[in-house]
Amino acid sequence: MADCPTALISLSRRLGDPSRNLVLLAEGNTSCSDGNGFWVKASGCQLQEIESQDFVYCDAEILLEALDQELSDSEVRDVLLGSRLEEGGRPSVEAFMHAWLLSLPGVEFVGHVHPVAALAVLCRDGAEGLCRLRYFPDEVVCCGPATAWVPYVDPGLALARAVRQSVSAFVAEFGEAPKVVWLENHGVIGLGRTPGEAESAVLMNDKACRVIASGTGKLRPLTAETVERIRSRPDEHYRQELLFRLQQGRT
Ligand SMILES: [Zn+2]
Repeated sequence: MADCPTALISLSRRLGDPSRNLVLLAEGNTSCSDGNGFWVKASGCQLQEIESQDFVYCDAEILLEALDQELSDSEVRDVLLGSRLEEGGRPSVEAFMHAWLLSLPGVEFVGHVHPVAALAVLCRDGAEGLCRLRYFPDEVVCCGPATAWVPYVDPGLALARAVRQSVSAFVAEFGEAPKVVWLENHGVIGLGRTPGEAESAVLMNDKACRVIASGTGKLRPLTAETVERIRSRPDEHYRQELLFRLQQGRT
């Protein structure tokens, strides 16, 4: 029997910490891949107090096949239950989305949350236009040069398909997976090679959203040239690694 990685448990608890205002009740879900299957939060569990038995070990291929099939609600439930490689709870309905994101090169941890600060931006007109703006250097370092945008759709299979479409377009344009995905009127996804990367992306995005939502004057983003310079500077890459290692040291 495979063990749920402790790094995923501690990432989940940190994202669920009530003082961070990233989720309420059973909101949000997390996952990580181990090369064979992947671990994803079971439906209905709270991130804040999650335990290893609250994760389900699943076969990504079974879930990925469903992305191209027309399925009824009961068939979707059957696919979710049938994807389990071991006994356990029912995988979160967002397991389809997690399976696809974890198939991307460089993505091994995924954290999806509903932050108050991000929703203050994502529930307003014009949020999509902010995806390509960056306001401070650490935002470029932790969240990448831009954010992938997903228009509102129902959770579950429809959302997984919409995420696939949006993130595939992002990868085609930028040559790498996004670190942050915005879901209109819904929430945020942080992606990373490590739990620290995924967490840094969520937290720095949250800081950026507070800056966007709180300003009274006209916001002045970094220029595209500055963003590109920060993105390509060797010392920024060093700083990025350092931030990630600091995060990992806490796991
Ligand atoms: Zn959600």
